[in-house]
Amino acid sequence: MGDEASMPRGAEGNESCSAERLSNGRLKDEYYKPIPPDIFAPKPGDQILDIGIVGAGIAGLAAAIALVQSGHNVEVYERSRFAHEIGAAINMGPNACRALKFFEFDFERARPTPLQHLRYFNGKSLETSRNVILPDCAKSYGHAFLLYHRADLHSELKRTATQPRPHTSKVAKINLLSEVSDIDLDGVIVLADGRKVHKDVVVVADGIRTRAASKVVGTKENLDALPTGTIAYRFLVPTEKLLKDPRTRHLFDVDKHAINIAPAGVDHRLVWYPCRGGDLQNFGYFIPDELEGYENETWNIPASQKEFMKSASSLHPDLQAVCEKAEDLKLWRLCSRSKPLPTLVKEKVVLIGDAAHPMLPHQGQGGAMAIEDGAALGVLLSSIKSKNEIPARLQLFQDLRIDRVSAMVVFSSVGQDEAARIADVARQYVKGPLPQCPEDYHVYNFTPNVIRDAIELLERYKAENIGPANHNASLPS
Ligand SMILES: Cc1cc2nc3c(=O)[nH]c(=O)nc-3n(C[C@H](O)[C@H](O)[C@H](O)COP(=O)(O)OP(=O)(O)OC[C@H]3O[C@@H](n4cnc5c(N)ncnc54)[C@H](O)[C@@H]3O)c2cc1C
Repeated sequence: MGDEASMPRGAEGNESCSAERLSNGRLKDEYYKPIPPDIFAPKPGDQILDIGIVGAGIAGLAAAIALVQSGHNVEVYERSRFAHEIGAAINMGPNACRALKFFEFDFERARPTPLQHLRYFNGKSLETSRNVILPDCAKSYGHAFLLYHRADLHSELKRTATQPRPHTSKVAKINLLSEVSDIDLDGVIVLADGRKVHKDVVVVADGIRTRAASKVVGTKENLDALPTGTIAYRFLVPTEKLLKDPRTRHLFDVDKHAINIAPAGVDHRLVWYPCRGGDLQNFGYFIPDELEGYENETWNIPASQKEFMKSASSLHPDLQAVCEKAEDLKLWRLCSRSKPLPTLVKEKVVLIGDAAHPMLPHQGQGGAMAIEDGAALGVLLSSIKSKNEIPARLQLFQDLRIDRVSAMVVFSSVGQDEAARIADVARQYVKGPLPQCPEDYHVYNFTPNVIRDAIELLERYKAENIGPANHNASLPS
């Protein structure tokens, strides 16, 4: 773990305590109390499982980290050579950062930028319509809200999974250039070169283009994520370049890191925020999808600067000056399933991350849900006494995750300022009041502590099924 004293201001994981109650009724200091990273180190009599993970994106790596932390033998099969993650940023709310902290993730190495506020303004006139000052997330939710370059987050996850950590000496094995062509529900992974490997549990984390969802759900229905009618130009610009130009300088306050949301008419929206310690600004310009071709691409569609500038012509001239500086310009076709999956597990197979719940970017929680999934799996497959318990343990994963990820899929389908549009669909997944505005969504998204929730669920399961004398992973008091 990095030296927290030298981390960017506000980036530290500060577990401040108070007698305050959270929106879920829990006492904040008790619910967010740090959980020792070695709590699930195997004890005598614990069964070590052989676990195969398909895909080494955010979800696969998070699961690898958490499952190794619980003592299992973990092998990951990744089809690419891992050259680099896509050139874009990702935000990690406190709900994901608390799990990263439990993973002994080195925050400092990954160079996050702490987020302080959300700014809504008119993309044509630059008039500010709303400025949402975020609560001090470290105080309110036990951890700061951090913005990352995806490559930085991904390489630090990879390092955490494959190198010994202060409290976990075991590491995961990642096989690169290992495309998986099929999986069997009884724990077989079929590789594209014809090899078959047998595992106690198969974690499918191969992203939005997965082929495994229909198998797990047990349907012939097409469960592919399909285009939603929106496409985004995404690009990065070094902050220094923007500060040098008098037309763009006034748009960037380097001391107050913000997510900026600038609609320009009904269906054009420029969104940006900083990453890599504030050195880079990450942009997405969302417009109607009129592109032909590239049916199988989602994130990395080639883009032309000339076409981009044409479509940006409705933006204020100062925002057009920002767009002129675009580097690493790509198109991102936004895809999703028509509805959330009814199940995430079957026999020895579990779906996580975008394979389980692809979502649009409006909540910025797709990667965070992938990290929560991995963390939950690590806890719920810990301290297992017999392989016969695997189906029951995977069922616990289903019970813990299905409403949370389904609600997030639905919430993510519209902007945080458009809650009324999805209220009826969201209702079935949410106990209690539905979020109505950005502030409500923050409470809903950031409050749950997935690791503590998983520990408590596992405790209840053990008390009901095994009896209190025979289990050994007890909740830290
Ligand atoms: C531009 C952009 C911005 C985003 N911003 C945010 C944000 O701010 N906050 C947030 O929380 N989320 C964000 N998201 C969503 C988030 O990035 C995804 O939810 C997350 O990356 C999903 O991770 P994953 O591991 O499930 O899938 P992926 O990242 O797609 O990883 C899947 C992995 O599986 C591998 N693979 C695929 N098929 C096979 C196969 N057959 N065999 C072996 N390996 C295979 C792939 O090579 C890949 O490495 C954003 C997404 C995009 C595109």
